[in-house]
Amino acid sequence: MAPTPKHYAQIYDRLQAPISKVYDCGKKCAPFNNGEPVCCTTGHAIPIVEHSEYKLLQSRTDMWKPFKPKDKAERAEVADLKGSDCRAVECNGARHCERDNRSMACRTFPFFPYFTPDGTLFGLATYWTFEGQCWVISNITIVEKPFIDEMMEAHEMLFAADSDWRGTYKRQSATMRSVYSKKDTRFPVIGRDGKYYWVLPRSGGTMIRAKKAELLQLRKGFPNF
Ligand code: SF4
Ligand code: SF4
Repeated sequence: MAPTPKHYAQIYDRLQAPISKVYDCGKKCAPFNNGEPVCCTTGHAIPIVEHSEYKLLQSRTDMWKPFKPKDKAERAEVADLKGSDCRAVECNGARHCERDNRSMACRTFPFFPYFTPDGTLFGLATYWTFEGQCWVISNITIVEKPFIDEMMEAHEMLFAADSDWRGTYKRQSATMRSVYSKKDTRFPVIGRDGKYYWVLPRSGGTMIRAKKAELLQLRKGFPNF
């Protein structure tokens, strides 16, 4: 069963907490992206929503519209979605953002639910292809517990509505382990317990607790300003 607009409305209600009440991360990455937050520019990230989520958004706001591809790569990305449950959309831009009408992807970026190899929903990992562009990925210690809790609960709601999403994120977690194993580099995850862990490369997904001083080294991955 696919999530209905009602499911997405309930998920939106659950996803209210900001990543951090202290930092406005959009102000951190925008100076390096022509003044616009990286995750709010389709040149970096084309928002993808399920048709049912789009239906909900259309019932609430006129902030969203179908995404119009501008080049061959974007046309291919949109073509890939044809016949699927999802579609590419775009909003009216960061200056016109309505916080209550952000998509699920907006509310969760740059995180996705991380599954261990035995299929346990452990916590949160980041979309690694945005390293160096997304300030949060390099400053992962700023993430606050209410955001972690809401991410876990909202995704459990999503998986209850459509178990295919669980499989999607299990595969995403496995891909991340594979990518970092090839680089022979550990990567951080935030446990649902609020603690930080390293996933070790070439280890079958073994995790060890991460020290704050080690995590602060990740800051070197974002340009100074
Ligand atoms: S989540 Fe990352 S990319 Fe998006 S606004 Fe914050 S720092 Fe920028
Ligand atoms: S809805 Fe808001 S948060 Fe989402 S992409 Fe648009 S400007 Fe960014």
